[in-house]
Amino acid sequence: MDRQYRMLVDGELVNGVMAFDVVNPATAEAFAKCPKADELLIDRAVVAAKRAFPAWAAKPLEERAALVNALADALEARAGEFASLLTSEQGKPLDQAMYEVMGSVFTLRAFAAMRLAPRTLKDDGGNIVIEHRTPLGVVASITPWNFPLILLMNKLGPALVTGNTMVAKPAPTTPLTTLLFGELCQEVLPAGVVNIVCDQNDLGAKLTTHPDVAKVAFTGSTATGKKVMAAAAEGVRRVTLELGGNDAAIVMDDVDPKHVAQKVYRGAMTNAGQICVAIKRAYVPEPMYDEFCDELAKLAREAVVDDGSKQGTTIGPIQNKMQFEKVKALIDDAKQRGTVLAGGEPLDRPGYFMPPTIVRDLDDNAPLVREEQFGPVLPVLKYSDIEDVIARANESEYGLGGTVWGKDLARAMDVAKRIDTGTVWVNQHLAIDANIPFRGSKQSGLGAELGEAGLNEYTQAHIVNAVALEDA
Ligand code: NAD
Repeated sequence: MDRQYRMLVDGELVNGVMAFDVVNPATAEAFAKCPKADELLIDRAVVAAKRAFPAWAAKPLEERAALVNALADALEARAGEFASLLTSEQGKPLDQAMYEVMGSVFTLRAFAAMRLAPRTLKDDGGNIVIEHRTPLGVVASITPWNFPLILLMNKLGPALVTGNTMVAKPAPTTPLTTLLFGELCQEVLPAGVVNIVCDQNDLGAKLTTHPDVAKVAFTGSTATGKKVMAAAAEGVRRVTLELGGNDAAIVMDDVDPKHVAQKVYRGAMTNAGQICVAIKRAYVPEPMYDEFCDELAKLAREAVVDDGSKQGTTIGPIQNKMQFEKVKALIDDAKQRGTVLAGGEPLDRPGYFMPPTIVRDLDDNAPLVREEQFGPVLPVLKYSDIEDVIARANESEYGLGGTVWGKDLARAMDVAKRIDTGTVWVNQHLAIDANIPFRGSKQSGLGAELGEAGLNEYTQAHIVNAVALEDA
């Protein structure tokens, strides 16, 4: 508890009105304190960001991009420290934490390399029409607890490069890597360009309803996303919503079940299943169903479930108690409806450990199939007709991602095209790239993050439409 973490407001590291415990999910014990803001401090942060906006927006893009690169360098230089703190607050194994930190570095650099060139829409000798991209103003970033660092960079990179300033609010169970990143922002950026405030799930609405916030960039659950969207209506504030998912994996009948089971297992269990685009239900052809289920169960039993800071751990704890209870309840319900082949019982030790759990023989209406479990448990379902399985995969209010696994690439890509989600990967998973836009369909989101489309979300398209003045 010796290390002090402070928020960043107007270029100063500040304490809050009180401090609350941050719990290590591998021990269920508090290991640090997080300062908490009140409404007044949120207001100060927004005012500071608004004050910093004109000078920041007026800087040439190259200068802003150079400062974003400097942030990436500063983060890379302390990558080990960030990764270790990320494991302590989030629970993920250290190698996965390092992957998130380095992914954050690459994301910042990718956005720093992007440019906002004006587009000539018409130039016919008489009429010239040019589309410019102008920054919006103060952006509020609100992030969840599964990837606290990289999900912030997905917003901070494009917001800063395009000339916006920011107030960022992490999730209360994983605030520390964001606060540590605030220390880098204090060293590298002009005062007020990035501000960081913390809450206990009680001040998000203060940000989303603030009259001086021009845009809310939100990643989190669909339920909270709806509130963010409703709050933004008042000022017709811009929103980007990256929300929940219930991604289907469709295994085609021409694959080697053992080989593909390994890939599906990884897609479902990385980060203990706490990934918006984790595989959350798998559909397997009837003739290979038993073998596929057994292979998944074997992999689940081989997992090393332990504290993420221990070498060799493949699955860490669930991030917080509330999520742990939710996953446990879904598994308990599934036990009544189907067959649990592996896992199913929490580890008998402190911390929120649920071993990887494989469930078969559920029907499509089971809560574990219909809802977003967001934990290390995978329902495996049987199919015999490809048209039928496409319909079942699409039978969801979510539309975030999905995967198709098949030897015949053209056939697999054809199935992928018919899955109604923002992204479908074929024979791979989690191929997220800062240069490729990422978005959800249906209730999984609104607007894009990443890529040029993601960059444009932080700008207003501005048309200048001119003709020469005729002689009087
Ligand atoms: P959550 O919705 O509970 O919280 C997300 C953030 O919103 C937190 O910072 C929280 O403090 C804040 N918040 C809470 N109430 C608010 C309000 N009324 N107004 C504004 N902000 C408010 O989500 P979570 O449980 O932290 O994260 C898990 C969810 O996030 C899952 O559903 C997952 O699928 C989703 N997620 C989506 C993506 C994506 O890119 N689509 C990525 C990661 C996670």
